[in-house]
Amino acid sequence: MREIEPIRLAELTTLRTGAAPERMQEAHTTEGLVEALRDTWSRGDDWFVLGGGSNLFVGDEPFEGTVIRVLTEGIEELPSPHAGRVRLRAQAGHGWDALVAYAVEHGYAGLEAMSGIPGTVGAAPVQNIGAYGQEIQETLVEVELIDESTGEISTVPASELGLGFRTSVLKHHYGSVPERRAVILSATVDLVVASERIVRGEQLRRALGLSDDTPVPLAWVRDRILATRASKGMLLDENDPDTHGVGSFFQNAIVPEGVARALPPECPRWPVAPDLDAVTVIPLATYEGLVEAPRRQPADVKVSAAWLIEQAGIRKGFKLPQSRASVSTKHALALTNRGGASAAEVAQLARFIQSRVHAEFGLVLQPEPVLVDVEL
Ligand SMILES: Cc1cc2nc3c(=O)[nH]c(=O)nc-3n(C[C@H](O)[C@H](O)[C@H](O)COP(=O)(O)OP(=O)(O)OC[C@H]3O[C@@H](n4cnc5c(N)ncnc54)[C@H](O)[C@@H]3O)c2cc1C
Repeated sequence: MREIEPIRLAELTTLRTGAAPERMQEAHTTEGLVEALRDTWSRGDDWFVLGGGSNLFVGDEPFEGTVIRVLTEGIEELPSPHAGRVRLRAQAGHGWDALVAYAVEHGYAGLEAMSGIPGTVGAAPVQNIGAYGQEIQETLVEVELIDESTGEISTVPASELGLGFRTSVLKHHYGSVPERRAVILSATVDLVVASERIVRGEQLRRALGLSDDTPVPLAWVRDRILATRASKGMLLDENDPDTHGVGSFFQNAIVPEGVARALPPECPRWPVAPDLDAVTVIPLATYEGLVEAPRRQPADVKVSAAWLIEQAGIRKGFKLPQSRASVSTKHALALTNRGGASAAEVAQLARFIQSRVHAEFGLVLQPEPVLVDVEL
């Protein structure tokens, strides 16, 4: 652990907003990270950990507390209990895309569609990152984490992390507190040993321009994904201001079937898989040898926030007068900093979009990044 001169968060976050916090520490080893966290918690400071800063929207006023930069690195190969598979355990500060590149290079399949997502391994389970129909929850086995409430380190199976659509029990959603205040120290994924694979999933096949079941090399998938992401401003690039954001600023809205039916039929939508783990408990005293078929719950539907935004009259490249924040010129869901925009300017644009979509469709779009000292 090392206490350092606080750096402006605008320099450490991809949306490029935020003053220097009151205190900053950096940790290059797991022991250092644990020490920094225990030290911060013992002082009772407000705190958060910072990975790649690519999912954070930080306010203009200095954060009154400690920011801990997670800079731990390393990948270990471990045997998998399943034939034809391998496990990779990566330290929390390891670059996510570097882990994907490692897996592809070594012929381990399961992460390749998530090529090019910015940020660190430790932050990836926090919002169950995903792209083109692949999510980390499909391969994540467990994480090693440290809980604030006990200061203890434990290994937690992925099934206990509450992983869902861009969420987990660790995520700090806008307007609520995380269910579990903990920091991931390392994450372990279980991958298939195969240098090529049949691409399943409509979304991914469409992104790759594939029409049939021919197996394709992982490296080919990775290259195509990186090129597609670059064309949409979804690959970090110092010289492309369309990438100076947090990726998708708003989440696709998840609404009940009835609400989705009221939207125009052209609005893109996807069914949300029902909870297959739902358990029916029948008290023994009332059990008569019959188990009723489970009642069908009306399915939720995910609707495209980008479509709602564009239909509410907000075009790509839109900006408010005098503002240095704008909608990406390539993607209606991405809000970007065109150079020197304050958090207040980005928030003003976000609120304007929310109010337009609400006026048009009656839905309130929820922000996807973690907001620190910013109100929407
Ligand atoms: C251009 C661009 C494209 C993007 N595309 C995608 C995409 O396709 N899919 C997708 O899912 N996301 C996408 N994102 C969002 C972002 O890349 C991911 O959410 C990423 O996982 C954030 O990682 P980070 O290290 O930058 O996290 P940070 O922004 O540093 O932190 C995010 C949150 O996680 C917490 N956190 C960080 N590290 C840890 C840890 N070790 N333990 C516990 N909590 C931690 C932080 O305190 C904070 O609350 C994109 C972002 C950008 C800028």
